[in-house]
Amino acid sequence: MTTDHTPSSESPNNTSRFLALAFILLAPLIMLGCPSGGNRPASESPSQPSSPPKSTTDFDGERAFEHVRKQVEFGPRPAGSAELEKARNYLIDQLKSYGLKVTTDEFHATTPIGERKMVNVIAELPGESTDAIIISSHYDTKYFKDIKFVGANDGGSSTGALLEIARVMAAKQKPRLTYWFVFFDGEEAFCVDWDECTNPNPADPKNPLPDHTYGSRHMVAQLTEKNQLKQVRAMILLDMVGYKNLQFGRPEELSSRWLIDLVWQTAKELGYGAQFVNSAEGIGDDDHAPFMRAGVEALDIIQLTTYARYWHTKEDTLDKISAKSLKIVGDTVIVSLPKIEERLASKR
Ligand SMILES: [Zn+2]
Repeated sequence: MTTDHTPSSESPNNTSRFLALAFILLAPLIMLGCPSGGNRPASESPSQPSSPPKSTTDFDGERAFEHVRKQVEFGPRPAGSAELEKARNYLIDQLKSYGLKVTTDEFHATTPIGERKMVNVIAELPGESTDAIIISSHYDTKYFKDIKFVGANDGGSSTGALLEIARVMAAKQKPRLTYWFVFFDGEEAFCVDWDECTNPNPADPKNPLPDHTYGSRHMVAQLTEKNQLKQVRAMILLDMVGYKNLQFGRPEELSSRWLIDLVWQTAKELGYGAQFVNSAEGIGDDDHAPFMRAGVEALDIIQLTTYARYWHTKEDTLDKISAKSLKIVGDTVIVSLPKIEERLASKR
């Protein structure tokens, strides 16, 4: 998966590193000026600053919302369209501006309406380990012959949230594991229904290929071929995460149980228990499924049942989306990540 390698020229972490260093150097001086510090034995180290615990992250819901608006303004963005190419260039520009190394993986897929060019976009944030966690979204919108489908929630919201997660993560200190922020092309079926059509499978004619999840299936095949799949320790997929009446059920039937438990518990601790509820969310299939089938621990954060009235209709528009919902998802994912790293470390 190479065509567009851009080395990051400057570290986004310099400012925060400088502030941390300044604090370490100045803290003893601050302690000297503190009246209660006078009786402290010289050997005792200064106590931690007593700032209240930060309940949320630097994830900016308004920034994420603007990314969704931009996607919608490009118009319907089915795989292979000029509009999707504009959306892709926007993603790449944003990701590079965060100091991330961006790679594009272009391929040609056979679909029920002919061959289509598709491009997965991958931004890498190197960690202390080369073991990787994927955080992902699809950025194509479903192809319709007769309606103008802009996919504000389905395609747009998760793409906006993922961009903002990438920005926040890139500005923090180097993570324990490497992160791949992956924007899949071709998640949507070209036929109206998900399983309505199939595509020929030259390698195994008796098992035709599905008409959906083109980008994620391609990425799993590439990683398998390069013997890199074992590097991927976990995969989180965001799909339809911006509805103003946000409510995620647990995707029990097709996600790793420990990832569901960990993320739902984190949401509760952040005060987002009303949005991450305990009912089951039924999902048939999605971009995380090819990874799961290949043995990768995965989680799909998706709101399908309670968005069904707008899903795949011309009503999936920007007025259904809220910055607050995007922030709830962004915070929950970002706060969950160190806990996921911890769990993975104990597993190996
Ligand atoms: Zn869809």
